[in-house]
Amino acid sequence: SKAPAKAEGAKTIAGEKGTVSERSFVMIKPDGVSRQLVGKIVSRFEERGYKLVAIKSLTPSPALAKEHYIDLASRPFYGGLVKYITSGTPVVAMVWEGKDIIRQGRRIVGATNPLESDPGSVRGQYAVSVGRNLIHASDSFESATKEIDLWFSEAELSSYEPTAWGWVMA
Ligand code: ADP
Repeated sequence: SKAPAKAEGAKTIAGEKGTVSERSFVMIKPDGVSRQLVGKIVSRFEERGYKLVAIKSLTPSPALAKEHYIDLASRPFYGGLVKYITSGTPVVAMVWEGKDIIRQGRRIVGATNPLESDPGSVRGQYAVSVGRNLIHASDSFESATKEIDLWFSEAELSSYEPTAWGWVMA
């Protein structure tokens, strides 16, 4: 028999949309690792009060990078983008959790083009080129679901409560 359709807002690998269990996939790209900005970038999410659910450093395979950016496959920069992500300098792949993390993650990261990034954002503070913009964050609940599933196994996702969780995520 067919499985029942998932109810709107049902819990998935990306948590529950709009609640403290919402999750986003965030990746520090090779330029961020090479420029030794990992600690500073991780701190922004930590200090805001978000929960680190998973973190690993790896050089993605071309297949993984291509799948991650599949929606941009027809764009002229797609080949260069895949080359940049798979250069051999690792990326830092993470899952962050907490209230509105998907929208807040995008604000912490800043606009795609550094010319338009808020100066208080990661890209606005550290990046000048759209092709070397340091960091990725899921842009919707649907992409978060797809990306977390693509980059991590269920076993890599931790479940715990940070000490100040109730104060921050109230
Ligand atoms: P975002 O990363 O902000 O979600 P997009 O999904 O539009 O932005 O693009 C994905 C990534 O592709 C960008 O972060 C950037 O690394 C790269 N990219 C986008 N536009 C360009 C461009 N015009 N030239 C080179 N690289 C680009």
